[in-house]
Amino acid sequence: MSGTVLITGCNRGLGLEFAYQYARDGWQVHACARDLVHAEDLQALEARFPDLVHLHTLDVNKDGQIKALDRVLGDETIDLLINNAGYYGPKGVCFGKVERELWRQVLETNTLSPLMMTQAFYPRVATSRLKTVVFMSSKVGSISDNQSGGGYYYRSSKTALNQVVKSLAIDLSGAGIKVVALHPGWVQTDMGGENALITPEQSVSAMRQLLQGLTLEQSGAFLNYEGTVIDW
Ligand code: NDP
Repeated sequence: MSGTVLITGCNRGLGLEFAYQYARDGWQVHACARDLVHAEDLQALEARFPDLVHLHTLDVNKDGQIKALDRVLGDETIDLLINNAGYYGPKGVCFGKVERELWRQVLETNTLSPLMMTQAFYPRVATSRLKTVVFMSSKVGSISDNQSGGGYYYRSSKTALNQVVKSLAIDLSGAGIKVVALHPGWVQTDMGGENALITPEQSVSAMRQLLQGLTLEQSGAFLNYEGTVIDW
């Protein structure tokens, strides 16, 4: 089964892997990145699948660029919107060293922008066949899982994202749209680092399988990449 997917943050990491796997399987892929000129791997993907991969400049924090993308898409429907772009912020910031502006930047990217993206594109999802919106969350956003403290910027941004997902599940259920917050596992990307437990290929393959079977009853859930429910 194929369709049309729009993915943010596709120049590297999980976003690039999502773009590759969907294109390989014959999907139309709208792959977004904020700096296409330096997105060599993404350009190579477009060259490999020129009829399937369509590149768009998109900094998710810029409303003007979200609007411009919406115009470019014309009357196209989107089966699957993957809000993948994410930002950890400076690492190792402990209590006493938290800075307002740095925190704001992480919240902007991880919490506010996924909702703004969904507000902009949900009408296209509502008229599609699969009607699914994905949010890349993180287990470290789980309050019950927090045993080590710290991580103020990133943890709080993903916890707040989970609440956004829950509200969206309720607000978009009338339109038949499924939304889900996914933890991709600890993955070998720039963010996850080289000691991470799984590869992008393993993580994205599992998440795609999960998404294929996602039901409206599961909408609003916080799931790990293999489909297990994560406690809030
Ligand atoms: P990476 O750091 O490898 O990649 C992050 C991607 O997000 C890059 O493409 C980056 O683009 C993009 N991005 C950041 N800010 C913006 C912005 N303002 N506008 C557009 N794109 C932006 O991370 P991963 O691939 O590992 O992570 C993908 C998602 O999965 C994130 O939401 C992350 O929080 C989540 N996640 C990852 C885990 C892991 O172990 N890897 C674990 C749990 C969750 P640029 O190159 O321009 O900065």
